Amino acid sequence: MKQQAAFVYSEDQLSYKFSDDHPFNHLRLKLTYDLLQKMGAIDDKHVQSPRMATDEEIGLIHDKPYIDAVKAAGEGRLSRGIANNYGLGTDDTPVFSNMHEAAALLVGGTLTAVDLVMEGKSEHALNLGGGLHHGFRGKASGFCIYNDSSIAIEYIRRHYGARILYVDTDAHHGDGVQWAFYDDPDVCTLSIHETGRYLFPGTGDVHEKGSGQGYGFSINLPIDAFTEDASFLEVYENAFKEMMEFFKPDVVVTQNGADAHYYDPLTHLSNSIRAYREIPKIAHQLSHDYCSGRWIAVGGGGYDMWRVVPRAWAMIWLEMTGQTHLLNQPLPSSWHHSWQARSPVQLPEDWSDPSDMYPPIPRRLEITDKNHKTLNKALFHIRNEKK
Ligand SMILES: [Zn+2]
Repeated sequence: MKQQAAFVYSEDQLSYKFSDDHPFNHLRLKLTYDLLQKMGAIDDKHVQSPRMATDEEIGLIHDKPYIDAVKAAGEGRLSRGIANNYGLGTDDTPVFSNMHEAAALLVGGTLTAVDLVMEGKSEHALNLGGGLHHGFRGKASGFCIYNDSSIAIEYIRRHYGARILYVDTDAHHGDGVQWAFYDDPDVCTLSIHETGRYLFPGTGDVHEKGSGQGYGFSINLPIDAFTEDASFLEVYENAFKEMMEFFKPDVVVTQNGADAHYYDPLTHLSNSIRAYREIPKIAHQLSHDYCSGRWIAVGGGGYDMWRVVPRAWAMIWLEMTGQTHLLNQPLPSSWHHSWQARSPVQLPEDWSDPSDMYPPIPRRLEITDKNHKTLNKALFHIRNEKK
């Protein structure tokens, strides 16, 4: 019997760890899993252990010399100079012991999710350990070593011959995935992100629309700093829906970075947790409306790992499994008991944010209007073609 959703997870995924004080910390996975367990929203039958990706699979996207460099770095036998040529050993992406194995496990997790959905064993699948959208063919970038999403998309193309819509709501541009498929008309990438004017990686302009045969299949929605829920969701829902309608994918892959929240220390957007309730809800609905429910979701950024990420990511699972009624209850006190002592901030008690989380944003209307115009520009060629 087909199960509704699978949760790909094991504690081994936490071995992807740069250092104790690095902002990217996969303790987020455990915080989320533990929250779901204590709510009674997940049990063993839902959980699938991630497999390790093979070198051949990683090689679907990454160059062999780069893979060899990652292996050598993780074994302490790569010089600093050579490491730097591959984006390794930088402040963003420091070298750590066995980094190849840790990164390959995150890729394998996303491939595990892909196979469950594409083989029809599970309608939806979630690998929160994935979403490393900045990884390039021959270079690590922005906390990402191997690009699990790019590898998964290429793997779907080869093994299942399916067309993929990739939707990225991380606050940073999904550059690695975009460039990997920039000229490919069978992969459509849609990224909503804070404008690259002041934020890493700087790309994702509305005019980046693909090249050659792939022209029109890269969609970028660079939104203004201080964008709030309503405008973020307007842009997201309209673009996602119109691309589903236009592109008619066989499967949807969503990247669920939770770093567009107001509390996030690395970005300047002003989402509240409400946006993270709506994002998976819309993805879920659209996947059923347009591609028989085939929906693979991965994690991504999210650097307020105590107040934001566990709630945001738990809500993806609750949506996937039709358990959103559990959001009417406060967060379980047993979760607080387990983690409050380790958290530098007060952990949230319920599923909404305080209404006075930030002072009113004076430029709200102007920002909303600007984002609306960006949406029109991003979709112009599609709306034009339909006429
Ligand atoms: Zn991000």
